[in-house]
Amino acid sequence: MLNITHHGGAKGVTGSCHQLTLDSEHSLLIDCGLFQGEDATEDAFQQLQIEFDISTVKALVITHVHIDHVGRLPYLLAAGFKGPIICSIPSAKLLPLVIEDALKIGFTRNAQFIERFQQQLESQIISVPYGKWHAVVEGNITTRVKLKRAGHILGSSYVEVAHQHPNGEKERVIFSGDLGAPYAPLLPAPKSPYGCEQLVLESTYGDRNHPDRRQRRATLKHAIEQALTNGGTVMVPAFSIGRTQELLYELEGIIYDAGRNAKRGLPKSQWQALEIIVDSPLAARFTQVYRQLKPYWDNEAQRRLRSGRHPLNFDNLYTVESHEAHEQTVAYLANTGRPAVVIAASGMCAGGRIMNYLKAMLGDERHQVLFVGYQGAGTPGRAIQQYGPRGGWVEIDGQRFDIKAGVTSISGYSAHADQKGLLNFVKRMRRWPHTIHLVHGEQTARSALKRELEAMYARKGRGVKVVNGE
Ligand SMILES: [Zn+2]
Repeated sequence: MLNITHHGGAKGVTGSCHQLTLDSEHSLLIDCGLFQGEDATEDAFQQLQIEFDISTVKALVITHVHIDHVGRLPYLLAAGFKGPIICSIPSAKLLPLVIEDALKIGFTRNAQFIERFQQQLESQIISVPYGKWHAVVEGNITTRVKLKRAGHILGSSYVEVAHQHPNGEKERVIFSGDLGAPYAPLLPAPKSPYGCEQLVLESTYGDRNHPDRRQRRATLKHAIEQALTNGGTVMVPAFSIGRTQELLYELEGIIYDAGRNAKRGLPKSQWQALEIIVDSPLAARFTQVYRQLKPYWDNEAQRRLRSGRHPLNFDNLYTVESHEAHEQTVAYLANTGRPAVVIAASGMCAGGRIMNYLKAMLGDERHQVLFVGYQGAGTPGRAIQQYGPRGGWVEIDGQRFDIKAGVTSISGYSAHADQKGLLNFVKRMRRWPHTIHLVHGEQTARSALKRELEAMYARKGRGVKVVNGE
């Protein structure tokens, strides 16, 4: 049985990096992500170092371009990794943008260095179409990898590894990466693979189920209606990539439908006055790439396109680029009563432009914070989510801010499968794995999912080894 070592992402939600040892001279790396929030230790710099031996690593496979899956890539290259970086075609387009941003924030602002680095990165990227086998090791052993759609963000994949041992014995290992939820906007839902011996399964929402799409869309619409009535701003902390585009897609739909059914709700003119502001040059660039990658959108999105709508590029949508424009926008929205939705990073309120909005508007009850993504333990986002609804406060940059603004959370836009979705991923395989390694989840989520998986196997009269955070 092939051995799997976790260099992050086994005990917490961030820092995903898994090594599959093929033999004494060959191994594969799946993802190379950054630690964030509570998962980042005091000695954060040490976590950035690549502390394991990379001499046997023949290839790095990237499941998707979120920073907690690719953020340590600059350090891996700095440590001398020269092998192929295998990813899907959309990921290959998105990855250089993510890495450029990560370099600017964490590494250097030296433009020449960044350019040289990007050239090296692009020379190592090998993009492979979904569903096609790609050989990574051939000889005494043979190992191939295949990417399948994971429905989490554009380009996201789960990875099937087909390995043949020297004695001819075959083994299949699957890395789920982050799995999307069914009925997510824009992306087709993931389909389960045929089967495998070992599965490395994410467990972010291993202990809960999401409300259905209609319900979360109603919650989103209600939050905006309140903003329209109060003359307030809905602040949405969101990852620049994935969630921002999903939200824009959903907002376009809500505004479109509200315009058509104006008799039953607020007048059409009020909806038309609503500004949707993406305050992030990075998110704006991602949105552009998303627009270029329309062939990877799902059927519903294709239908909207065919009917002449522009789900990611509509009339009320504004982008804020420069820092000066950002500061003006914060002041403008805090002082005037213009209803608006602002989408800005970071998704967990741990830095980024969203912080200035929070500082300016948390103390005013006209405004609202709308969480659409997972808030990691130890992040300001988690504190606002927990204490905000009870009129609490949060500490930002060493200063105390009272929370009078409304706080709403919608878990359905998490872009992660819920407990049912994770169980279905296994259940719908024809050949169930005998070993499941749970990763990418907090202890309570992993434990709950382990219990459910064991019960599911027991109902079929079968056993399973569920490895929980080791
Ligand atoms: Zn992700």
